[in-house]
Amino acid sequence: MQKIKMNVPLVEMDGDEMTRIIWKSIKEILLLPYIDLKTEYYDLGLVNRDKTEDQVTIEAANANKKYGVAVKCATITPNAQRVEEYNLKQMWKSPNGTIRAILDGTVFRTPIIVKGIQALVPSWQKPITIARHAYGDIYKDVEYIVNEPGKAELVFTNEKGEQSRQIIHEFKDKGVLLGMHNLNSSIASFARSCFNYALELKQDLWFATKDTISKQYDHTFKDIFQEIYENEYKQRFEETNIEYFYTLIDDAVARVMRSEGGFIWACKNYDGDVMSDMIAAAFGSLAMMTSVLVSPDGSFEYEAAHGTVTRHYYRHLQGEETSTNSMATIFAWTGALRKRGELDGLQDLVEFADKLEQASIKTIEAGIMTKDLVAISTLPNKKAVNTEQFLQEVAKTLNTML
Ligand code: NAP
Ligand code: MG
Repeated sequence: MQKIKMNVPLVEMDGDEMTRIIWKSIKEILLLPYIDLKTEYYDLGLVNRDKTEDQVTIEAANANKKYGVAVKCATITPNAQRVEEYNLKQMWKSPNGTIRAILDGTVFRTPIIVKGIQALVPSWQKPITIARHAYGDIYKDVEYIVNEPGKAELVFTNEKGEQSRQIIHEFKDKGVLLGMHNLNSSIASFARSCFNYALELKQDLWFATKDTISKQYDHTFKDIFQEIYENEYKQRFEETNIEYFYTLIDDAVARVMRSEGGFIWACKNYDGDVMSDMIAAAFGSLAMMTSVLVSPDGSFEYEAAHGTVTRHYYRHLQGEETSTNSMATIFAWTGALRKRGELDGLQDLVEFADKLEQASIKTIEAGIMTKDLVAISTLPNKKAVNTEQFLQEVAKTLNTML
């Protein structure tokens, strides 16, 4: 068989621990035999991040900006314990945070749906993709404990020194206070990422806030979305036959529960934090959740939503057999390859990505899966395989399809 050719390289960001091992195996077993894989490789493993003083992360993010499409392996976000374990020069920041700051992107998370693993909400037949705004609100707030009677005010001083003052509350006794903010530019970037990704997936976009109560703060989110939609996206949405739908957050939650799925749900920072965990749990497994960072100017970075699966890695190091689920990492690769294929007009690359996804799903639906899925699948005949065997089985299924 002739290998599929690529023109423009994918930005490949390698990572840590168990997912680094899976990364290599996916390439060897599922990609290199079929594709003349062209990547620009960046090693974001913690050892190399430390060696390059984290420059490699910045270079990788810039390459993502330059070429448009990247695929990323899960990486360790260092904490005090990791600083010791890896003897780090310093506690480097989260690579995902660094990349997101450079791309100014929004993260979209989508579950992979297979027969036998039924969502806990019976009406959900199609995936629900959550987009979480990743800036501001309570995540950058200022808080204060009121321990005595007094007056709390909201004061804004402009550059000329002119002030606007509002009384928040006249405390007669103890209480609590918080101040938070957001930026129109950040809300607008979030909106554009969401509209772009809805066009990309050809799915409706839902957005919700509490604008009836928060008549200025939340209303600003609603207005910015609406204005960008009207001016930049309405026509393309109509041509694509998809809808932008705004409602109140409580109404949205109720509608999501009654829906059949198949849409993108844009959430403010806190709503997204909470709702993405609910959606992930309801669809069954973090190991079946994919993630893509979409920038407002249209760069894409595909990855798995889970971490480096440390517990499995330590077992692997001790020579024990592991059964780690590679689905989300496989789908990170297929997402990136499909996108590259679309941008470069490589139909065979697009078709390969589709087939590899189908082969992975078919393998699980035939009852061959890693241990985490055996525990939750309702299929009558299931066989647990190890990390490597699963990839071999997917390759077998794929070969029957090519
Ligand atoms: P994790 O790697 O997602 O793993 C948590 C647990 O979830 C695992 O121990 C395992 O449970 C289960 N699990 C997750 N993915 C699985 C898979 N593919 N197959 C089978 N089981 C899976 O989260 P963590 O242990 O909290 O974090 C580990 C490291 O990952 C940390 O250093 C963290 O900084 C990093 N992290 C990176 C990213 C990222 O790069 N995007 C995201 C999150 C965390 P059992 O052990 O019970 O089998
Ligand atoms: Mg959370």
